[in-house]
Amino acid sequence: MINLEKVNKWYGAHHVLKDVDLSVGRGEVLVVCGPSGSGKSTMIRTINRLEPIEKGRILIDGADIYAKGANLNALRQKIGFVFQQFNLFPHMSVLDNVVFAPVNIRKQPRKQAMELARSLLARVGLEHKIDAYPGSLSGGQQQRVAIARALALQPPVMLFDEPTSALDPEMVGEVLQVMKSLAKDGMTMVCVTHEMGFARDVCDRVVFMDGGEILEADTPERFFSAPSHPRAQRFLADIL
Ligand code: ATP
Ligand code: MG
Repeated sequence: MINLEKVNKWYGAHHVLKDVDLSVGRGEVLVVCGPSGSGKSTMIRTINRLEPIEKGRILIDGADIYAKGANLNALRQKIGFVFQQFNLFPHMSVLDNVVFAPVNIRKQPRKQAMELARSLLARVGLEHKIDAYPGSLSGGQQQRVAIARALALQPPVMLFDEPTSALDPEMVGEVLQVMKSLAKDGMTMVCVTHEMGFARDVCDRVVFMDGGEILEADTPERFFSAPSHPRAQRFLADIL
C-alpha cells in the first residue's frame, strides 16, 4: 500500500533521510520512534508530499507520488494527517471543521457531509460538542476533532505525527483510545509516537530511526524484548 524505496532528503547540506526503505501493507499499523532530530517527522511528511525528496521513490498503491503530473489533491484525499498541534480552523465550529474538506475539496453535498461528520464526531465521543468552537475545547477534545476531520475524506491511510505530545497527561488516553479503535477497524496507520504502551498493544511493527536511517523494523514483541541495534537498546533504556 505504501512503499518507500531508497528515499533521500537533504535540508541544504544536512542529509536528513538516508536510503529509507519501508513497506506498509494494507491494514498494517506502524509505530515510528527514535530520538529527537532523527527524521521521523520528515519521513512521515514525505508520504503525504508535505516535503519534497531528492532521491528515491514513494509509491502509494503502486503510483509514484513524486512523478511529474501526480495528482496531489487526490493523494491528500487518500491520506489523512494528524499533527501534534491540532491545527483546527479556530473560527469554525467543530462540525464545520469536519465538514469543510468533504464539501470544499471533494464537492460532496453538504447534507451528506454533515451526516458523515456527525457520525465521525460520535465515533470520537464528541457528538455533544458539534456546535462548540475549538478554543473552548480541551487539547484532547481538539485532537479528537482533528482525527474526525482527517477521517472525513474517508482516507484508506492515516498518518499521525506525535498526536499526543502536546497534551496534558490525563488527555493522552482518550486520543490513544480513538487511534486504537481505528487500528482495530483495519485502518492502515503510520504513527510517530513515544507512547510505547500503544506500540506494544496495538501496532504490528515498530520502526526505529536514528540519524535519518531506519535502524530497526520489527514486531513489538521482538523490538521491546531484544532490540538488535545498540542505539535502539540505548533509546529504550532511556525511555522505558
Ligand atoms: P522530533 O522528535 O524532535 O520531532 P524528528 O525525528 O521528527 O524529531 P525531524 O523533524 O524530521 O526529526 O528533523 C530531522 C532533521 O532535519 C533535524 O536535524 C532537523 O533539525 C532537520 N530539519 C527539520 N525540518 C527542517 C527544515 N524545515 N529546515 C532545515 N532543517 C530541518
Ligand atoms: Mg518530529
